[in-house]
Amino acid sequence: MLQLMSTIVCDCPRDEKCKTCFAQAIMWFGGMARERGVRWAESVARRQPRHLAQPSPHNEGRPAELARAKVADLSEDPRIVERLAANVAEAAERRWRQLQGVLHP
Ligand SMILES: [Zn+2]
Repeated sequence: MLQLMSTIVCDCPRDEKCKTCFAQAIMWFGGMARERGVRWAESVARRQPRHLAQPSPHNEGRPAELARAKVADLSEDPRIVERLAANVAEAAERRWRQLQGVLHP
């Protein structure tokens, strides 16, 4: 369905979207990506509450890969996935800091 939505407006390659489709994809999926980031932070905090004493574990190395994996289904364009993954990581970090404030004020 998602692919269909974009092919209606444009026929640029799925894995190398034009500027317009790129922006549109970020607009459509940005909120979804941030939502996934929030849930991600919450699930890590639930499973490993001790980690809350430390800075957010979502921004680099393996977590960055995990962030990408969380939005890989949303686009075939690696640049779009990369941007959405940044949204995931950002939202996860923000939520992480909120949770830290609650548990370790
Ligand atoms: Zn396009």
